[in-house]
Amino acid sequence: MSPTRTCLPDAQRAVRVGDLIYAAGMRPALPTLALALASALAAAACRADADELGGIFYDGDGRLVHCALNLDSSAGNSLESIDRGLDRAAERGEVIELYAHRPGGTVPLEKIAHVLAGAAERGLAFVTYRDFAGGGGLGPGLALSFDDSGVADWLTARPLFLQYGARVTFFVSRYHVLTDDARAQLRALAADGHELAGHTVDHLRAPRYVEEFGLAAYVAEQALPSIDVLRAEGYEVTSFAYPFGARTGEIDRALGRHVPVLRSVAFPFPGPTSPCPN
Ligand SMILES: [Zn+2]
Repeated sequence: MSPTRTCLPDAQRAVRVGDLIYAAGMRPALPTLALALASALAAAACRADADELGGIFYDGDGRLVHCALNLDSSAGNSLESIDRGLDRAAERGEVIELYAHRPGGTVPLEKIAHVLAGAAERGLAFVTYRDFAGGGGLGPGLALSFDDSGVADWLTARPLFLQYGARVTFFVSRYHVLTDDARAQLRALAADGHELAGHTVDHLRAPRYVEEFGLAAYVAEQALPSIDVLRAEGYEVTSFAYPFGARTGEIDRALGRHVPVLRSVAFPFPGPTSPCPN
């Protein structure tokens, strides 16, 4: 389903509205305030709700590149928007994909609890990215993932995961800097039924890295080592998430030879800036 509104990212809209304010003769001392106001107004007027972002819903088509919507506070997606997304998943038998970073840090634990409770109430199954790799229609579900290296914060959400019987996917970057304690905590999470997957060595933007050093270098130095280090620890790794969701079709094809599922992100502002191909 296509978004029903014509939207632009906050920054682009702010610049346009800011230009109009300048043209109308506003004092030059006020442009910063004007831009902030314009940005806030534009975001409120333009942002698509989760149910309008077709790319974050999986319908069993066996796609290589998946897209998730950001639950972090900074992303500004409201509980009402997320609830509409959960409704759509239940009504259409799709899997909604959501992600965040650090429970209790970038995203309140209460928001995680709301999403897990909302999924349970609507009869959504908890799906990991390995389940996508298995192929086939998965029925109505929630694929929730957490990115980067905030293992101690992930642990704070463990009681919630246990309460709702939730299985989630942790896309781990910078595994080489994790302490022994953090690695033990990851083992505990995996033992609970959660999945660990790759998210690169240094958390850099893939297209930029490829431009500078080449595709083969990106695959060999950034992507694959983040998968192999987990496999060496005994984890079954079947997916990889792009830092910042930043990707190209060329990189997708190269990584698709190593894992069957890649995860990018979808912005609530559709258009050419969104890295989601779906
Ligand atoms: Zn990341």
